Amino acid sequence: MRSLVVRWRRGLRWVEDRLNERYSTTGCLFISLVALPFVLVIWCMDLYALLDPAAGRFYHPQLLRLVALQESLSLLLYLGVILYCLPRWRSAEPRPWLAYPLITFVLVASTNLAILYGHKDTPMALVFLASFVLTRAWFPLRVLLPGVVLSALMIVTAEILIRHDVIPYAPLLSRPVITGEPLAWWWDIWMRVLYDMAVAFFSLAMFFIFGIMERRHRVLEELTRTDTLTGLLNRGTFMRVLEEEFAKQARHRRAACVMMCDIDHFKRVNDTWGHAAGDAVLLRFGQLLRESVRQPIDVPARFGGEEFVVLLPETGLEAARVVAERIATKLREAVFEADGQRFSVTISIGITEVDDGDPERALREADAGLYQAKAAGRDRIIAAVAPPGPLLAAEQIEQ
Ligand code: GH3
Ligand code: MG
Ligand code: MG
Repeated sequence: MRSLVVRWRRGLRWVEDRLNERYSTTGCLFISLVALPFVLVIWCMDLYALLDPAAGRFYHPQLLRLVALQESLSLLLYLGVILYCLPRWRSAEPRPWLAYPLITFVLVASTNLAILYGHKDTPMALVFLASFVLTRAWFPLRVLLPGVVLSALMIVTAEILIRHDVIPYAPLLSRPVITGEPLAWWWDIWMRVLYDMAVAFFSLAMFFIFGIMERRHRVLEELTRTDTLTGLLNRGTFMRVLEEEFAKQARHRRAACVMMCDIDHFKRVNDTWGHAAGDAVLLRFGQLLRESVRQPIDVPARFGGEEFVVLLPETGLEAARVVAERIATKLREAVFEADGQRFSVTISIGITEVDDGDPERALREADAGLYQAKAAGRDRIIAAVAPPGPLLAAEQIEQ
């Protein structure tokens, strides 16, 4: 059962990934594979009407022949596209010469059928809608544009002509299919098959579109929350977390520590070993930071460049110093390699203990500690309890 669920999820993900790639060849193949059974059903229906006089009575004979011809050509076209695209289906090469005419044809042909069969009381309205949703799911709007414009013109023209009695509603049919009486059995079957197919494809398209939207939303949210190199929270997210934590702190007046870390002579690392080696150091330091703090209580983040910050809620200065020592030792002992040579880096850390709920002041004090650590020769930790601030924050927040 579990493996079935896993496979189902993988299958969904696979379809979503293909849709996300938006390769025009894959899209043309997919649209043709969906359109083919629809046209086949309608083609069989019209063929049946051509062969059986009882069924033929419902149709306008000349128009029926024309429509059957359109469907035969459509079948050939979709088959041709499938045969062409199948061996190239994962090709990323754009094929506008195929995508534009195919999508325009799909939209115009479905609009044409909807008008001819009557779009208001046959499943053709759904077929018509499904064709727009499915093509839009795979192709950018510009590919749909010619088809959309032509279809809109066709619908408006048909409405005007019908209103002025130039053509009847559903011109392909010689009499209304739905009159309130039971449908002829064959109409009943065709209508159900077409209706169910259109609903199935329409729902599937919606299902995937919403799935993709949700996934994209999650990815974007993650991107705006985190730093892409280290995966740690970025500065903006850290500031939000810090403000929330300090708002609580201001109420309870519990001590917290803020630790500001800055890699020593990092510019030299970049200059000597290259930017990629610098990135590797940052990445490793990010991992090391994550491993060295209490998860998920402490909050490490990349503050910018080679500067990192950690919030340690409900932590006293001495405990924070122990964490900082651990981080500094781990980094000092880490060996990096570039151009076949090994190097290591050190870090300076400023820590402040605060309990007044003022995030700006906490950052300022931790930064002052860091500055002192740098001035005193780097590779060291300066920790201090922040001097008492204006004890207003708690009262201000309470109000
Ligand atoms: P100090 O010991 O005083 O901190 O000296 P420093 O060289 O570490 O400090 P400085 O501010 O002079 O240089 C920081 C360097 O970090 C400069 C910048 O190019 C580099 N840097 C910032 N972000 C990145 C990054 O994402 N990747 C890499 N490789 N380098 C970065
Ligand atoms: Mg530095
Ligand atoms: Mg710096």
